[in-house]
Amino acid sequence: MKVLVINAGSSSLKYQLIDTATQQAITKGLIEKIGADAEFSFTARNGDKIKSAAAAKNHTQALNIVLDNLKDPGNGFIGSLDEIDAIGHRVVHGAEEFSGSVKIDERVIRAIEKCCEIAPLHNPPNLQGILACEEVLPDTTQVAVFDTAFHQTMPKSAFLYAIPYEYYEKYGIRRYGFHGTSHRYVAMKSAEFLNKKFDEFNCIVCHLGNGSSITAVKNGRSVDTSMGYTPLEGVVMGTRCGSIDPAIIFTMMEKDNLSTKQVNDILNKKSGLIGLSGISNDLRAIWEEEIKGNERASVTREVLVKSIRKYIGAYMVELGRVDAIIFTAGIGENDWNIRERCVAGLENFGIIIDSDKNRNVRGSATDLSTDGSTTRVLMMPTNEELMIALETETVMKG
Ligand code: AMP
Repeated sequence: MKVLVINAGSSSLKYQLIDTATQQAITKGLIEKIGADAEFSFTARNGDKIKSAAAAKNHTQALNIVLDNLKDPGNGFIGSLDEIDAIGHRVVHGAEEFSGSVKIDERVIRAIEKCCEIAPLHNPPNLQGILACEEVLPDTTQVAVFDTAFHQTMPKSAFLYAIPYEYYEKYGIRRYGFHGTSHRYVAMKSAEFLNKKFDEFNCIVCHLGNGSSITAVKNGRSVDTSMGYTPLEGVVMGTRCGSIDPAIIFTMMEKDNLSTKQVNDILNKKSGLIGLSGISNDLRAIWEEEIKGNERASVTREVLVKSIRKYIGAYMVELGRVDAIIFTAGIGENDWNIRERCVAGLENFGIIIDSDKNRNVRGSATDLSTDGSTTRVLMMPTNEELMIALETETVMKG
C-alpha cells in the first residue's frame, strides 16, 4: 500500500510517500515558511536533495505543490494520484477522545477541533493539513495517528496531578504524554529485535531529541511517561526546561514583571540546553565545548544526564522487571557519551553496557549491553513516519 504521511506544522508541511510492503520511503520532502517566502525541498529519484522557492500561501497550496511533484511526468514518483491508497496524518493531541488511530470523518474532525483548546500550537495546523487533503483529494481515505494515543493506557495514578480534582474534571488537566508513535514503534521493534512477545515485553524507551520523553512500557503498554499535560514536562530538552518547581514561575513573574506569555516563552524556547549552556540547543555543539574544558557546557550535559537517570530509576521501580532500556531519536541514536553516562554504575541492577559496542554504533539497531547484562541496553532508530504509514494501513484493513 502507498501511504502519503503528512505532518503539518503552523508554517510547514512535511511529507513522506511510503510503500508499506517494503517499509521504505519512496520520496520525502518539506515545504517550510508557508505564507511568506515558502521553500520546497525534497529528495529526487537519484537521491539528490533539491530546494527551490515555492508559491505556497497556505497549506492547500503547499499540498498541491507536493502532489504535482509526486506525479510530475518524467521526474515524479507515481503515475497518478490514484496510486495513493491513503493519507496518514500526524495529530499531536487526541486527549481522552482517542486511544488509537482512526479514519477521519466529520465526527473525528470535530473531536480534533475540540482538542485544540489543550494543544493550541499543534492541533490547529494538524487540522489545516487534514482539511487541505480533504479539499484536494476528497476521495482518498485519511487516517489520524495521535501522539497521545499510546499513553491512554496509563492508569489514573500515573496521569493525575495532585491539584484539586476539579481541574481534571473541568479542564482535562492531567498527564497525556507525547511522542507516543515513536515510543510504540521503538518498543515494538525492540521486542522483535530481542525475539520477545510484545505483550510480555517490559522496557524503558528514552526518546532523546530536541524534544525528549521517556516512557515505561509494561507488557507492551505505556504505564507512565515523562511528558505531561503539555510537552514541557519531563527531562531537560533542547529549549524546554522539563520538570521544574512550579513556584519558580511565580518568582520569575514577580522579579522581572513578566506576563504568563513571556514566562511560557522562556520555559519553552529559551531554557533547557540552550538556556543552561548559553551555547546552543544542539547537544553536539555543547559536547564540543565540554571537550575543550568549558565548565558550563560540562554541567549542562550533566544536568541532562541526571534528569534522564531519574526517570530510568523511577521506571525501573515501576516496572520491577526491565527487559530493555532503549535509546532513540537524535541524541539517543547518536551520542554514545550520553548513553554511556545514563546507564553508568548500574551493574548491581543487572544493567551493564559494553563500552566498545556503545561507541561503535553505526546507524542500525544495536544491542549495547554485555552478555551478562540481565537488562538489554539497545540503540533503536525511531521512524515515526513509517509507524504512521503502518497504522494507516492497519486502519484501512479494518
Ligand atoms: P531530533 O529532534 O530527534 O531530530 O534530534 C535532534 C537533536 O539530536 C539535535 O538537536 C542534537 O542535539 C542531537 N543530535 C543529533 N545528532 C547528534 C550527534 N551526532 N551527537 C549528539 N547529538 C546529536
